[in-house]
Formats: sequence, structure tokens, C-alpha cells
Amino acid sequence: NGKVEFRDVHFAYDAARPILKGISFTVPAGKTVAIVGPSGAGKSTISRLLYRFYDIQQGAILIDGQDVRDVTQKSLRAVIGMVPQDTVLFNDTIAYNIRYGRVDASEAEVEEAAELAQIAHFIEALPDGYETMVGERGLKLSGGEKQRVAIARTILKAPPILILDEATSALDTHTEQEIQTSLDLVSRGRTTIVIAHRLSTIIRADEIIVLRDGLIAERGSHTHLLKEK
Ligand code: ADP
Ligand code: ADP
Repeated sequence: NGKVEFRDVHFAYDAARPILKGISFTVPAGKTVAIVGPSGAGKSTISRLLYRFYDIQQGAILIDGQDVRDVTQKSLRAVIGMVPQDTVLFNDTIAYNIRYGRVDASEAEVEEAAELAQIAHFIEALPDGYETMVGERGLKLSGGEKQRVAIARTILKAPPILILDEATSALDTHTEQEIQTSLDLVSRGRTTIVIAHRLSTIIRADEIIVLRDGLIAERGSHTHLLKEK
């Protein structure tokens, strides 16, 4: 399970300026839909609506047929995982940061997730900016390493629904490719919404939706849309 449906979704932060003007799409359980569009198109808004940070004005958002308005934010957080553009780490060990979201996980499970995300060698380290009174200092992590912490967290949480919100856009090209490969592995078999501003950063998606001016301007398969460009 983990099917996500947006049905004629209308949304505005402020009534004078609609952001989504009737968006419909379905992400079948276990499939991947990519949402592509210029900055300000409303892509991140879609993920916030799924989490129910805001309620929509018209239409419906359903998870496995259930309207999210009938579900608490807490339950939504339990089924949705998110890898954001920039991962902000808590001032505690990397292991703690990985465990966040599934506090009941065993140490072995945390280690396994860290290994899969290729950060097993620094899970006991503290993040950058951390400094204790006795002068211990945190480790300066690169953008890619921080994204790997978010990936390990997601592997451990194993949510049925995953949102990748520009998860690689802050990285250099080489790191971006490496992280994309890891994300591709994590998202396999999971309902995934990939948000990106460039079509070229989407490696794999069952459907690509191009958002423009609050509407779906184009939709189709990877090959279909790439051919048109
Ligand atoms: P994208 O992810 O495609 O770049 P967003 O969904 O973040 O776009 O934003 C869509 C539009 O909504 C932008 O014009 C943005 O300024 C506006 N917006 C986003 N968040 C808020 C908010 N909390 N209040 C008012 N306007 C907002
Ligand atoms: P993110 O989801 O990437 O953490 P935010 O939710 O803070 O980012 O904002 C996303 C976009 O929406 C940004 O372009 C920001 O400028 C815009 N935005 C956020 N809050 C508001 C707001 N209250 N009014 C107008 N624009 C906003």
C-alpha cells in the first residue's frame, strides 16, 4: 500500500494568489512520480499538502483511499518519509540523527542503515557546529555526507511513501550522481514523489508531471518528455 492521489487539488496560501489551480495525479503503490517545474511553481507546496501542513481549499488528497483531512499529522509523519534539499542535523551523534524517526530501532539496525548509506565510518561522530565545554568539536560534513545521513534515516524508517524534494540539487555534479544512485535504491518498491526543477536530474520515474502556473502543463513517460526537449 501507499497509493497517493491528488484529485482536482486547489490551493492558495493567500486567496488572492492561487498556487495550485486543479491538480490531479495518482501515484500507484510502489511507483514513482516526478514533479518537475520552475522555482515557485508549487512543487514543495505539494509535499507540504501531503503532510497536511496546510489544508486545501478544493478537491481531495487521498492516501490509500483515505482523505488526509481525516488523518492526524502524526499518523501522516509515520507513513511519509522525506529527503529534503538540505538536511539539517540535530546537535547529537550521527547515529542519533539516523535513529530520529524510529527511536525504537536497535543499534544493529542503525548500523545496517548507515552501512547501506555508506556512512558507517562516522556514525559516532557529532555534526558540525557542535562543541562541548571540554572542547570536543563536531565533524564538518559535506553536503553529500549530510544527504547520506538523511538517506540512512529513511532506510531505517522505511516509510511506505517517500518524498525526495530536490534532494540532490545543492550538490556538485559528481556527488549528485552518487546520491541519486543511492536514492534510486531507497525508493525502489516504495511510493515515491520526486521533486526537481530539471528534467535531467530524474533517473527513473513511472510518470513525469510538469507543473507550470499552478496547472499540469505536460505529463508523460521519461522517454516521451525527453524526446520533446
Ligand atoms: P517550488 O517548490 O515549485 O519552488 P513552492 O511550492 O515552494 O514552489 O512555492 C510556490 C509559491 O508559493 C511560491 O510563489 C512561493 O513564494 C509561495 N509560497 C510558498 N510557501 C508560502 C507560504 N508559506 N506563504 C505564502 N506563500 C508561499
Ligand atoms: P522549504 O520547503 O524549501 O524548506 P520554505 O517552505 O521555507 O522552503 O519556502 C519555500 C518557498 O516559499 C521559498 O521561495 C520562500 O521564499 C517562499 N515562502 C515561504 N514562506 C513564505 C511566506 N510566508 N510568504 C511568501 N513566500 C513564502
